[in-house]
Amino acid sequence: MQLRDSALLKTQCYINGQWLNADNGAVISVINPATGNNLADVPRMGTAEAERAVAAAHAALKPWQAKSAKERSNLLRRWFELMMQHQEDLGIILIMVLKQPIGVCAAITPWNFPNAMITRKIAPALAAGCTFVIRPASQTPLSALAIAELAQRAGIPPGVVNVITGSSSEIGKVLTEDDRVKKFSFTGSTEVGRKLIAQCAGTVKKVSMELGGNAPFIVFNDADIDAAVEGAMISKFRNAGQTCVCANRLYVQSAVYDEFVNKLAQAIAKLKIGNGLDQDVTVGPLIDAAAVNKVQEHITDAIGKGAEVVTGGNADNHGELFFQPTLLKNVTQDMKVAREETFGPLAPVFRFESEEEVVSWAN
Ligand code: NAP
Repeated sequence: MQLRDSALLKTQCYINGQWLNADNGAVISVINPATGNNLADVPRMGTAEAERAVAAAHAALKPWQAKSAKERSNLLRRWFELMMQHQEDLGIILIMVLKQPIGVCAAITPWNFPNAMITRKIAPALAAGCTFVIRPASQTPLSALAIAELAQRAGIPPGVVNVITGSSSEIGKVLTEDDRVKKFSFTGSTEVGRKLIAQCAGTVKKVSMELGGNAPFIVFNDADIDAAVEGAMISKFRNAGQTCVCANRLYVQSAVYDEFVNKLAQAIAKLKIGNGLDQDVTVGPLIDAAAVNKVQEHITDAIGKGAEVVTGGNADNHGELFFQPTLLKNVTQDMKVAREETFGPLAPVFRFESEEEVVSWAN
């Protein structure tokens, strides 16, 4: 190999900053498929060396993690620059990579972002040359069908985009088990995602899962409380609390706890409940009766264990699927809201004292 920098042709392994042979000296040959010639020998390492490599990575984790993003960025930037500087040699060592579309892709999507959950999956797949079968949530099929109509109008050829509504178990089984489907993408609850990963295992599909959340929102004593309240309102009450990235648990440090709770209650009082198509409405209904029951269940459980309702707490009189935006205080880690995704307009505020405490609760 005619490399400009011959030192790039390494024939030892790299563990903990050291270039090493296998413990027993064994090697494997690297053959040039174009000529059949032996290009080089590299170590045939085994269990002991692999364990040492894992131990080295484990030992290096904490200090590497503790570096600032900027420090890591500087090192990555330097690595990138060196790769660019040596790209000719890297090209010779590598020979060739061909990127190809994986094949037929399939997706099952949730109801709560009916357009975005579909477009963010379909667009990159089609751009790469893949075709798509999508099965939208039964509660919001019209968005998916409207997108299909627009795909047809845009001139996307027949078969490239397909949308089917219907039985989740029957359609889900085909999309996860048919060998012609090479990639399966799901956004939805953790419970359903777990089943679908298992169904994909038989055909070893590439799988992407975007599942449920239980996001913490942390306010320290030195925070700008007005900004924190504004952030909490956006993150908690968007889509009536029915988004995977909604703050599910609000942790507030003790010196600002009362101020935060009071200001959050004032902000909640300004929300306007009603039909989302009506002017000025900021909070709509929940998606179904099960969603209303879950919010009620979390409130009842929390009150039973000592939480207090600051505002809300009940179904709203706009209709049976409306629920009052609710603020609970004196919420503790033994309550269901600490562990389960509420997926509704409930803001439970936990009090914490130290950073260590809140980081461990949040995690
Ligand atoms: P879901 O109950 O898991 O339903 C999601 C999709 O899976 C729906 O299309 C549903 O069909 C389908 N499904 C249900 N059971 C199935 C089965 N056995 N086989 C195949 N498909 C099945 O979730 P959801 O209530 O619609 O959405 C809310 C959840 O999604 C929350 O947990 C939220 O956090 C999560 N989410 C996550 C993200 C993210 O990016 N991580 C984004 C949005 C939402 P049916 O409609 O017919 O039941």
